[in-house]
Amino acid sequence: MASAPEKPLPEVGLSLFEGPDAPQESELYKCVHCGFCLQACPTYVETGLEAESPRGRIALMKAVNEGRIGITDTVMRHWDLCIQCRACEVACPSGVPYGNLIEATMQQVADRRKPGYVNGKIAKLALKRLLPNQGFLAMVVGAMRLYQRIGLQTVIRKSGLLKLLPGNMGELEDSMPELPSEVFKAQGQVYKAQGERKARVALLSGCVMPLIHGPQMDAVVRVLTRNGCEVVVTKAQACCGAINSHVGDLETTRKLARRNIDAFLADGVDYVVVASAGCGSRMKEYGHLLRNDRVYADKAAAFSAKVQDIHELLATLPIVPPRGHLPYRVTYQDSCHLSNAQRITAAPRQLLRSIPGIEFVELSNADKCCGAGGTYTITERDFSMRVLGTKINAVRETKANVIATANPGCMMQLQYGAQRDGMSVEVKYITDLLDESYSKERHGA
Ligand code: SF4
Ligand code: SF4
Repeated sequence: MASAPEKPLPEVGLSLFEGPDAPQESELYKCVHCGFCLQACPTYVETGLEAESPRGRIALMKAVNEGRIGITDTVMRHWDLCIQCRACEVACPSGVPYGNLIEATMQQVADRRKPGYVNGKIAKLALKRLLPNQGFLAMVVGAMRLYQRIGLQTVIRKSGLLKLLPGNMGELEDSMPELPSEVFKAQGQVYKAQGERKARVALLSGCVMPLIHGPQMDAVVRVLTRNGCEVVVTKAQACCGAINSHVGDLETTRKLARRNIDAFLADGVDYVVVASAGCGSRMKEYGHLLRNDRVYADKAAAFSAKVQDIHELLATLPIVPPRGHLPYRVTYQDSCHLSNAQRITAAPRQLLRSIPGIEFVELSNADKCCGAGGTYTITERDFSMRVLGTKINAVRETKANVIATANPGCMMQLQYGAQRDGMSVEVKYITDLLDESYSKERHGA
């Protein structure tokens, strides 16, 4: 990355940013206001407003840092509307680490909000107690599954009661995916490699993914073992903390990171493999997250160096060529946390193209966010749906019957968009497609 020339820091007022998590001035003042990032930013493209651009948001951070403006509701609103997709980082010629800046900024504003939905008691309970506690989370998802199985969901949807729910709760219920019966559990189990062992890997199970995409997690294990990986599903692992850091709760994120570092490093594996792009991105940045922690800083950096996105790992092993024929026209939506945060764009395409029968068609603006963005689809529903609408229109143009993705948030968002807009298209993980091809091969198809 190119580094910006040293700039003297203006001395205007007292900074309202404080503490070790404040945006770092060495990063903040790298921005030279050139505007190369504007067209990469989905919120700027949708609104055309400077304040909804990376440059505008950074200007607000600088103004707060210099004491020229306060952290008002209006200022926070501009930061909140950022999807944290990090497309601006890729476009920036000066190497501004926007992800670090917005994460630090969200931490600074988290405790200044007036109690509302995001900062309200329910949201705090969910973020601090629910996500970090897999047993508790499994109970809640189990109750939702029962709500679907006994037909209550159908009755409620037909009754029109959803329209009476406050805020966007009705629409959120409407976008709830069908929950499978099979869940994936991290119980310390070990799956043997098929053939010669090429690597011993620990698999991140995650928080929500094993509960809502259990069969897909089983497919991940089959693909890894088929490719010579012995897979350990570490029992003591925890949620990666991505959702908490998205809303500025770095304290909980650090607790989760320390748990994961201790749990995974104890397994003595070659790699920690992650099948969810958002989680992989978070875990690759534990080193930065814990940089000021005297006990964990070095361990965090060592841990992050072991984290591999599953597509990245499969492409470098290299992959055992799948031979089962899949008659699909497939397009691929880059997950922001894979393409922008981890800079992985070639490996997923290479894997898709390796599957016989797949007709791969590029999606226009595949690198533009789908609007899922952690909690964004809940907290900024209107804007999230606008961005999703643009994405679904692009998918329609490809005439694909499968959208491949690498992240659970993107999968749910795209499934909802397709269903809402009456499109006949399936959304699948790349690992699902690989597994399907390997399975056909086993059965001689
Ligand atoms: S973030 Fe980078 S690309 Fe955007 S205005 Fe600043 S220096 Fe230019
Ligand atoms: S992270 Fe995404 S939404 Fe936020 S400023 Fe950068 S490009 Fe725009």
